[in-house]
Amino acid sequence: LDGKGDFAQYLSLLGIDFYPSTEPKTERTHRTEIHVAEPSVEFHEARVTLAQLEREAAGCQRCSLASERSHIVFGSGDAQAKLMFIGEGPGAQEDQQGQPFVGKAGQLLNAIIQAMGLERNKVYITNIVKCRPPENRDPKPGEMEACSLYLHQQIELIKPTVIVALGRVAAQFLLKSGEPLARLRHTIHQLNDHSKLVVTYHPAYLLRSPDQKRKSWDDLKQVITLLGNRS
Ligand code: SF4
Repeated sequence: LDGKGDFAQYLSLLGIDFYPSTEPKTERTHRTEIHVAEPSVEFHEARVTLAQLEREAAGCQRCSLASERSHIVFGSGDAQAKLMFIGEGPGAQEDQQGQPFVGKAGQLLNAIIQAMGLERNKVYITNIVKCRPPENRDPKPGEMEACSLYLHQQIELIKPTVIVALGRVAAQFLLKSGEPLARLRHTIHQLNDHSKLVVTYHPAYLLRSPDQKRKSWDDLKQVITLLGNRS
């Protein structure tokens, strides 16, 4: 799926012209370094289902983001997905609908998923925080820590083969790193015993900076390869 034809399809879906890649063939070698992230919180020991966890989150007041939300945006997709996308937090349309990535950035994410040869309902999509930060600001560290109770249980229940961190905020939080996004890309991170993590640009950023879409495809090719190599 990482051939020239799929690249052309990806660029076409994302609205940019195709030209053949001139990247050196050694690139993949440079992108297979494994970095082991430190676990950030203790996981719940209780064995709960994803649906039970969502019901548990429904009335959550663990942080101040609860006060202005219309709906909690817990996550959506396949509870047994091999691929999980994690953004930073819901926006206005997500807050209204209670679903992740339903605005323009969501439409671009849909195109990305399609270009990868996958279906949205076969992957799982969520955010670091489940309630909308006001004015679409970045979630604060305390808010992300409070909400990580749910995120880490989602990861433990779904056990995806690959997690894609969408954007700097999600990547830095998941990897407990202060490194810039540019340094967190180009590495396949080992998040835990069962999930590798790949970092790429947030779709909202790609809408503002479409020239970065080609770089995002480099990251997504790594994801496709990892999914293809699962046993
Ligand atoms: S953002 Fe997370 S921790 Fe904060 S109120 Fe919403 S669900 Fe609870």
